[in-house]
Amino acid sequence: MTAPYDVIVLGIGGMGSAAAFHLARRGQRVLGLERFDIPHSMGSSHGLTRIIRLAYYESPKYVPLLHRAYENWREAERLFGEQLLFVTGSIDAGPPDSAVFQGSLASCAEHGLPHEVLDGEEVNARLPGYALPSSHRAVFQPEGGFIASERAIVAHVTLAQAHGADIRARERVLGWEPWRDGVRVTTERGSYQAGRLVVSAGAWIGQFVAPLVRAAVPERQVLGWFQPDDPALFRPDRFPVFNALFDEGRYYGLPIWGMPGLKIGRYHHLGETVDPDAMNRDCTQADEALLRGAVQRYFPRAGGATMGMAPCLFTNTSDEHFVIDTLPECRQVVVASPCSGHGYKFCSVIGEILADLAMTGESVFDLSLFRLARLRAA
Ligand SMILES: Cc1cc2nc3c(=O)[nH]c(=O)nc-3n(C[C@H](O)[C@H](O)[C@H](O)COP(=O)(O)OP(=O)(O)OC[C@H]3O[C@@H](n4cnc5c(N)ncnc54)[C@H](O)[C@@H]3O)c2cc1C
Repeated sequence: MTAPYDVIVLGIGGMGSAAAFHLARRGQRVLGLERFDIPHSMGSSHGLTRIIRLAYYESPKYVPLLHRAYENWREAERLFGEQLLFVTGSIDAGPPDSAVFQGSLASCAEHGLPHEVLDGEEVNARLPGYALPSSHRAVFQPEGGFIASERAIVAHVTLAQAHGADIRARERVLGWEPWRDGVRVTTERGSYQAGRLVVSAGAWIGQFVAPLVRAAVPERQVLGWFQPDDPALFRPDRFPVFNALFDEGRYYGLPIWGMPGLKIGRYHHLGETVDPDAMNRDCTQADEALLRGAVQRYFPRAGGATMGMAPCLFTNTSDEHFVIDTLPECRQVVVASPCSGHGYKFCSVIGEILADLAMTGESVFDLSLFRLARLRAA
C-alpha cells in the first residue's frame, strides 16, 4: 500500500493528461495511471493532429467552452515552450440546408464570431486545394486550426510532473471501489487510495463506469494521409481545416503537418462498433478506398500515393454530446467521456473542469448538456 493521494487520474490520454496538469498546479497530490505508453497509438488521441474550431455546428452551447479551450491551449504552449495550437482558419461546408453549414452559421451568429459565407466556387477559387461542389455553402472562420495532439499530451504530462504529479505508464488499472470517503484503485502492480478519482479511460470507460457500458460505444475509425501534386497548396498557411458533408458522408481534413500528405477521415468510417481490446488494428484496402474516393472527388490535387493510415477509436453517445459529471451514487468519482469524434480540442478546458469537479464538485461552465442522467433516461 503506497501513500495516499488527493486524486487518482485513470487514463493519461488527452483528457487525463490535462486533468493531471490542472490538479497538480493547484497543489493536489496526483497519481496518473496509464496502461500503455505516454503517448501511444492505441486510443483516441494519436495521428499527430486534431481540429479545433470556434464555429461549432454541433451546438452553439459549446462556444463558451471553446473560448476557454483556446486560452488554455495558449497558456499550455507558453508554459511548455512549444507551439501546440496552429491557426489555419476553418471551413464548415455542405448543402445550403445541411446541419454542418447551418449549425456553423448559427454558432457564429449567436456568439458574434467573425466569419465569411462562401459558395463552393468561391472556396475553390480562394483555396485551390479544395474542389467543393459549386452548390455547397461554406462558413470560413479565421480562428479555426489544429492542435498537435500527441505533443499536447506530452506537454500536459510534463507540466503536471513539474508540479509534483506522479505519472505512471504501463500500469493497467483493474478496478476501483469506494474506500472511506474516497476510493481505492487496484492495478496490475498494486493498490492506491485517494480522496477522489477522475476516470478518463477513453474507449475503455465502460469497464469502470457501469452506466457507460451501453451508453458510450467504441467505434473503429481510420485516418489517411495522401500525397498532393503541389504540397504548397496543402500547407497550413494555404489549407484551412475542414468539416464537410458530401453525398458520401461527413468528412474532416487537415493540412500537411508532421507527415507528407493531406490528412482526411470520415465520421463513423465503416460504422464498426468494436471491443477496443479486440479491434482490427490493420488498415485494409476498403478503408483506404473509402478515404481516397473523397480525396479524388473533393481534393483531387492531393490524390497521389498513400502516405500513411492509422486506426483510431471514437467513443459514441446516442446524442453525440459528451459525458462530464460526477457519479451520482459515488460523488468522489468524476467521469469524463468526451468523444463522439469531436472531443480533443476541448482537452485543455475539460482538464480544468475535471479539476474543478474533483476539488469542489462544481464548475463555472454549464455542464447540463453533458450529464450522465440524460443517457440513463434515453
Ligand atoms: C480518428 C479520429 C479523429 C478525431 N478528430 C478529432 C478532431 O479533429 N478534433 C477533435 O476535437 N476531436 C477529434 N477526435 C476525438 C478526440 O480525439 C477524442 O475526443 C479524444 O482523443 C478523447 O480523449 P480521451 O482522453 O477521452 O481518450 P484517450 O486519449 O484515448 O485516453 C484514454 C486513456 O485511458 C487509458 N486507459 C484505458 N483503460 C485503462 C486502464 N485500464 N488502465 C490505465 N489506463 C487506461 C488509455 O490507454 C488511454 O491512454 C477524433 C478521434 C478520432 C479517433
